[in-house]
This record gives sequence, structure tokens and C-alpha cells, in this order.
Amino acid sequence: MRVRAISYQLSAISVWHRRLVTRTTVIAVTVAACQGRAEPPAAAWIDATATLDSATTPVYEGNAPLSFRFMLDMRRGDALTLSAFSLGAHSGTHIDAPQHFIADGASIDQVPLTALVGPARVIQIPDSVQAIDAAELNRHQWKGAERVLFRTRSTSGHWMNSAVFHHDFAYVAPDAAQLLADAGMKLVGIDYISAEQFGAPAPRTHRTLLGKGIPIVEGLDLSDVPAGDYDLVVLPMKVRGHEGAPARAIVRHRT
Ligand SMILES: [Zn+2]
Repeated sequence: MRVRAISYQLSAISVWHRRLVTRTTVIAVTVAACQGRAEPPAAAWIDATATLDSATTPVYEGNAPLSFRFMLDMRRGDALTLSAFSLGAHSGTHIDAPQHFIADGASIDQVPLTALVGPARVIQIPDSVQAIDAAELNRHQWKGAERVLFRTRSTSGHWMNSAVFHHDFAYVAPDAAQLLADAGMKLVGIDYISAEQFGAPAPRTHRTLLGKGIPIVEGLDLSDVPAGDYDLVVLPMKVRGHEGAPARAIVRHRT
């Protein structure tokens, strides 16, 4: 009898405790909403990442091909699905670490989060412009930004979602790279798989930015990201000792 009584008491406490937890949660959510402190919903984040897909992802001329394969596949009757992929470090949306062009530069696993997370300004470059040089840069409000992302003709053409490699993508010219580096930019981004002019006689844009320890995010998909100020989170795979890696990039409007 005593054991049964204790067990009744315990279950009563347990029900009471559950109700209290539920009530406390409801009260906390209500208070947060009333005070305007509720976290923005995940829907406020916009994906700025190009989807990796061998049918639609452009590969820079001479870079490693993309390969995605299923070793096991439940759609074919296997007990589980298991796949493998191989791709160049500079495939799709990705980060160039300083090591890409600077012999003793930081590798991708050493790029600090302070460069990869924070305010970023998306700048719209007209479709007619291929070279984002100092003169073009200065036509836009870029000063004071901590990070700049260029939205160019490559976004208009949806080139990050076309397997055809376009040679005439918009690029950051060396004199603009110098202005950005001198201004202490934390990160520079562009919407095609290189920030450098295709066939440039020397990789001066890369050397200028990476030489100052400024990582470059290339291959952004800015289709849903018009010009404006955003919070940016761009996180590359953490591969020890390599010069770059694919990344996931998301942005949300700054209020
Ligand atoms: Zn790259």
C-alpha cells in the first residue's frame, strides 16, 4: 500500500511538473513576443549558395570534374542509401583561403570566423560591366562596408546554375581589389566561380586580396539577394591544410 501511495504521489508530481513546464514555456514565448525579442524565424534567411549538381554546376576550365555517385540506393532496393562525391576545392559556392596564391598564407581551416560571419553589402553591378575596376567600384556606396558581395551579369544570366563555363563573367579588377584591401575589407565575394578576369596575365586580384589575408567567396548564387545590407554567414568545409573549400552561404536583411 505504501509503495502504491508513493507511486501515485510521484505520478501526480510528474503531471504537475509537466503542466508547469508547459505553462512556463507559453509565458516565456509570450513575453519574448511582447518585448519584440523573439528570434527571427529561420525563413528570414536567404540561401545564397549554388546547388552542387553535375548537370548544372559550372566547372572552371581545367579544374577537377564533379562526380556524384550512389554506392547503395534504397530506390534500387538496397537496405540504405550511401553515396560518395569528388570535386575540386573551388566548385560551386566556395571560399579561397590565402594559401591559394600566397605561399605561407592561411589554409581554409585557419580562415577566422570573424571574416566569414557578419555584415555584408550586396552591390549591384550593371550587366554591361565586365570589369569591376576602381572607377566602377567608386560609382557605388561601398565605403564603410565590412564585406562586399558583387551581384553582376552572372546572376542575371543564372550562370551559377548552368554547366556551360562562361568566360566573360564580371570580375574584380586589380585596382578595385587594391581599394578594397586598403580599406580593410574582411571578405570580398562575387557571383561566379572566379573573382579574377578569365585569362588575366597575372592573378593580381587574388594576390592583392589574399595577400592581405582577405578571403574571397566565389560562386555565390545571388538570384534572391538584391542589392542591400545583410548579415552574412558563409562557412566552408574545414579541410586541414587546403587552399579552399566549398561553402554554404546564407544572408538575411539587416533591420
Ligand atoms: Zn576559388
